[in-house]
Parts: sequence; structure tokens; C-alpha cells
Amino acid sequence: MRWYDANRRDLPWRRTREPYRVWLSEVMLQQTQVATALPYYEAFLDRFPSLASLAAASEPHVLAVWSGLGYYRRARQLHAAARIVVRDHGGHVPLDAATFAGLPGVGRYTTAAVLSICIDRPLAVLDGNVARVLSRLYALPAAIRDPRGAKRLWALAESLVPARRPGDWNQALMELGARVCTPRAPDCAACPARRACRAYALGRVAEFPPVRPRRRVEAVRRAVALVTRGDRVLLARREGALLGGLWEPPGVDLANGDRARTRLGAVLRPLGVRARLAPTGRTVRHTITHRAIVAEVWAGEMAADASLDRRASARRGATRDAEPPRARWVVRSRPGVPLTALARRLLRGD
Ligand code: SF4
Repeated sequence: MRWYDANRRDLPWRRTREPYRVWLSEVMLQQTQVATALPYYEAFLDRFPSLASLAAASEPHVLAVWSGLGYYRRARQLHAAARIVVRDHGGHVPLDAATFAGLPGVGRYTTAAVLSICIDRPLAVLDGNVARVLSRLYALPAAIRDPRGAKRLWALAESLVPARRPGDWNQALMELGARVCTPRAPDCAACPARRACRAYALGRVAEFPPVRPRRRVEAVRRAVALVTRGDRVLLARREGALLGGLWEPPGVDLANGDRARTRLGAVLRPLGVRARLAPTGRTVRHTITHRAIVAEVWAGEMAADASLDRRASARRGATRDAEPPRARWVVRSRPGVPLTALARRLLRGD
């Protein structure tokens, strides 16, 4: 704790104990480095300074502000949770563990982090950083990704959390893991816990935590259509769990033997778009959660006065009045809808 008090980084979410702000930081920091999250945190609070303003916003608006940070499910769940807090709790984050943990996207980690930091509840956190530090300190062959290992690590973390300043304790462990006890190059010489560290005493730091084989990355061949109309480009809204609600140029994953032009034509027709497609020879490589995508870019042009053929869409049941449109012509530099990372690269011309 002395080390943390002297060395802690001055981060905006550490200057407040306001539950909404602390909660937002914990959501953003899941799967994301501090340096990456920082500008998004500031921008998000500029747009949505209170839980009420977040609850009042539309989902596309929230996703647009989150756009680029990835793992959009986090934003959707935070938005849904904000609406519940406004509807059921008068806009005040419920700070009893059971109620808070019942909100969308709030798990054991987030509950403990927010309640320990905001109201000094002695609840332990366990994330990748804390798990690594504990595994090394106790020479415990347990990994957070392994259910049995996680159970042991949670029990250990809970046995350590103090009644006094539990939030700072939790953050101290995370800070130590992020800055000193790092995955590949721990700086044991500068570590305040060196004398208590069993892995260090045994000279076996590199063995903890045990490594599990990584999930295999799937190679995906994809074709995308950059269809332009004057100064505008066609985007389609993705459906489904993976990136659903985000927009990108229409595209399709290809199986062996698939003809890209035919498959793309079949994707465009229900959107009401008929364009002659030509290969550009350009490919864009993009990796996202276990998918290494190689996207072949095809180009198509439509007359400047062409619009989406809504009748064609309606005939195929793709567009009903009650549904938001699935395709739009947008200006490249100001699309006005939340984009996938691949879409941003395609539109930039990377
Ligand atoms: Fe990590 Fe080394 Fe410190 Fe042990 S001594 S906690 S391995 S940095």
C-alpha cells in the first residue's frame, strides 16, 4: 500500500468515487489497456456526463461514441444497465452487491471493483493482473482462464482483502501487475513485494502463472463490396452477436470454391443494390477475436442519383417500415453511424 500511495498513476477515474464514473472506467478497462481507454473515457463522459444522459441516448449514438474501443457488447450492456438504473432506482447506482450484480454486464469483478472503490466494501477483485501477481507471490500453479484455477485465486484474493481501504488495495494489486509484475518481463528488482514473493525466492518466476495453450486463430477469407454513388459509399448494418449493430461495407465470408462476385451480388440484392462489381486487387488483413480475416475488396459504382431500391428490398422481406434501414449511403469522412474496425480501415483506404 505504501508503494501504491507513492507510485499510483494519476488517472481520471482515481480522482472520483462517483459510482457511474468508476463503473464506466471498470467497464472500459476490461480487455483494454489504460492508455487506449483514457481518451475514450474522457470523450464518453463529455457526451454522457451522467447516467441519466446515457440512459436517454439511443443505442447507435452510444455505439458511435464507443466506436474504436472494441468489445461493443460492453457498451450495449452498460447502456441497458443505465436505463434500468434510471427506471428502477431513480438514477442512483444501487450499491448493494446483489442488486448491482443483477444489472446487465455486471459480474463479480465489476461488483467488487465498484463497491470497494466507491463505498469501501471489502470485496476482492480478480482480473488478469491480480491473478498473475497472486500466482507468483504464492507460487500457486493456478491460471484465471482455468475454472479450478480461478476458484483458488478468487479464494486467495478474498482472504487477503483488508477492511481498511479495500478499493485502494484492489487497485494496488492491479497497478503492481500492470506496471511491475508484468507478464513477460517482471521487474522483480523494483518490486515492493519481492521479499514476500515465493516464485522469486524459488527462482521460478517464469513458471507462474501456468500457461494454457491459446485458442487457434481461424483464417477467414472474406469479400467486401465498396459500392460508391457520387461521393457516398454504401454501408450495411451487421446483425447477430458478433459486432451486431455496427456498420461496414457489405461483405460475406467465403468458403472454398465460392465465387466472390456471385456471393457479393447475393448480399447486395436484398439491400436493394444492383451494381456491377470489379476486383480491385486490394486486400485488407484484419484480426478480431480468433478470426484472422483477409478481405478482398471489390468495387462497384452506381449512378449518382440512384437510391436504395426499397421495393426490391421489401419484396424480399428485408425492409419493413418498423425496422431500421439495414443499408445507407454515407459520406466517407463523416459516416454518422458506428463502424467496425474493419470498416474504418476500408474507408480510410489502408
Ligand atoms: Fe512479481 Fe517479481 Fe514482484 Fe514476485 S518479485 S510479485 S514475480 S515482480
